[in-house]
Amino acid sequence: MDIERLIGERARSIDASGIRRAFELGASLEDPVNLSIGQPDFPVPEVMKRAAIEAIQRDRNGYTLTQGIAELRVACQARLSLDLGWPDDTPVAVTSGTSGALNLLALALLDPGDEIIFGDPYFPMYPVLAKLTGARAVIADTYPDCRLTAERVEPLITDRTKLVLLNSPSNPSGVVARQEDCVELLDLCRRRNVLLVSDEIYDEFTFEDGRTATDSAGKPAAPSPGRVDGSHDDMLVVRGFGKTYGATGWRMGYAAGPAALITEILKLQQYTFVCAPSMAQWGCLASFEADMSAEVADYAERRDLVCDALGEVTELARPCGAFYAFPRIPERLGLTATEFMERCVERAVIVIPGGIFSRADTHMRISYATDRAKLERGLGEIVDLMRG
Ligand code: PMP
Repeated sequence: MDIERLIGERARSIDASGIRRAFELGASLEDPVNLSIGQPDFPVPEVMKRAAIEAIQRDRNGYTLTQGIAELRVACQARLSLDLGWPDDTPVAVTSGTSGALNLLALALLDPGDEIIFGDPYFPMYPVLAKLTGARAVIADTYPDCRLTAERVEPLITDRTKLVLLNSPSNPSGVVARQEDCVELLDLCRRRNVLLVSDEIYDEFTFEDGRTATDSAGKPAAPSPGRVDGSHDDMLVVRGFGKTYGATGWRMGYAAGPAALITEILKLQQYTFVCAPSMAQWGCLASFEADMSAEVADYAERRDLVCDALGEVTELARPCGAFYAFPRIPERLGLTATEFMERCVERAVIVIPGGIFSRADTHMRISYATDRAKLERGLGEIVDLMRG
């Protein structure tokens, strides 16, 4: 049978070969230094493991409410209230990963020809959200500082613009937004009746030097447009459990914001994912008792290692969060990032070329979510190659 003939345009329009290549390289090398991995290298906290196992054993294995179990929604609302000062009855949808939230959001908002704006470099799922819905990805160049600002976004807004996506801390750059940029972006979106979506999946991984805003108790906190008064009515916050607690395979996230939007997301969830995994919802309820400060401090130290090593040989927007850095391939080498990545592979080091995250193939993503000995070995090789 000619299956090829049956494949639709939507699927054909998506190219995943670059990311697949990084996976294949990882599998083909013996004992590589793999700096391409987009997930933490620590285990899920014991309290969460126990809660998920107990949920299975107590037969909590059926469908849950589409919006998620009430206990978890209340805990998410309490977190948003403490952190952002949002009302503790702000509608929340528990979703299958933050990816679930982002996909349902795109389905809820975007019609063919509509436009979504995000910064370059970007998380590779963002352009695909446009492709899946027939919308147009309108991409704001944010090099070299990797900051999405109102000044960069405003000229791109048209009467077809439906949403602006902000991701801080950022994948791939690790850059953390400034609070004043968040305030101005929300102000712009409010004036132009465009939805601002804040993808805060790496929020807990905001290091001290990135915690330049304050939470509702006055403690240093990650910048977010959600800290603006009344923002819960005009924007969507998307957060996750996978990165924060090393539980990416549990597929857990949530979205919070205007009731009319959460209602549509839930309607679409009911006919797609149905609900997030039941045992993972119970496991994630226990996450609010887990303290990740030691893990975050450890990542901050590894960040310092990366910046110290690369700062001497190339340009780097300072990463103050997540577990990535996005250095430039030194121009004098005359190599694209893909070519540089191939040189790295010859030395058993795997990185992801910037072209996966950007229209420019001039930078590369390093994930430092790997053990220190390997990280140091990999950095040594990269510095050596960058010196040329
Ligand atoms: N947003 C960003 C910026 C990400 O980096 C990722 C995961 N790499 C996601 C969303 C999706 O995460 P999840 O596993 O929760 O679907």
